Amino acid sequence: MSLDMLKQTLERLQASGHGVRFWLRDDDAVEPTPALERLLALTAIHDVPLTLAIIPEGTGAALAEALRGGDDVLVAVHGWSHANHAGPREKKQELGSHRPLDETLQELAKGFDKLSGLYPQQFIPMLVPPWNRIAPSVVEALPSLGFRALSVFGAEQPGALPLLNTHVDIMNWHGIRGGRDPAELFRDLAELLEAPERPVAIGILTHHLVHDENAWRFLEELFEATADHPACTWISAREALDL
Ligand SMILES: [Zn+2]
Repeated sequence: MSLDMLKQTLERLQASGHGVRFWLRDDDAVEPTPALERLLALTAIHDVPLTLAIIPEGTGAALAEALRGGDDVLVAVHGWSHANHAGPREKKQELGSHRPLDETLQELAKGFDKLSGLYPQQFIPMLVPPWNRIAPSVVEALPSLGFRALSVFGAEQPGALPLLNTHVDIMNWHGIRGGRDPAELFRDLAELLEAPERPVAIGILTHHLVHDENAWRFLEELFEATADHPACTWISAREALDL
């Protein structure tokens, strides 16, 4: 039902001479897994460029080998170890203000160096903070570490760095920890498309390691409805940010 809603919205956009751009960010990759293979196969079939936010600390040659040659797969820095340093009553954060700033920045520099070394072609200098949260003091220091863009969740706000955010998270983190109801997701997307202030590119956020069949089904249906649609373009983070 709601997939139809999205399709109708796209028809209207096309009829009015407008287009929409999407981009895809998938978080938490460390090593090759069957779920990652499934994601890579799915995005390749539909020619959808993918940005993988990789957790630097535990990753290495195995993942780099699996991603080598994937022209449409870019790599961004996902914190350092995805460790939570916030207190028990706070929302989880690796890059908050709970530790000395220098300690956080040293880790981010290590992550930048490690991933840019492992992925000479596919690395982009974009930071994806774990849990999409980051202290303003850390953001301010990012350009000095070489970062040229930041990606979190929600509407883009002006800041020290260009932002390329995600706007639709396909997972339900609070209830069943599975994919959100595809009908609901398509309705959310249709609403975003109709919003007066549409983002430059609508960011879809996925987490391949915890996808259930709902999550995979939504992605398949989304790509089928949009990848070849004349009003839609899937762009890479590099293209969106001119990196
Ligand atoms: Zn993460």
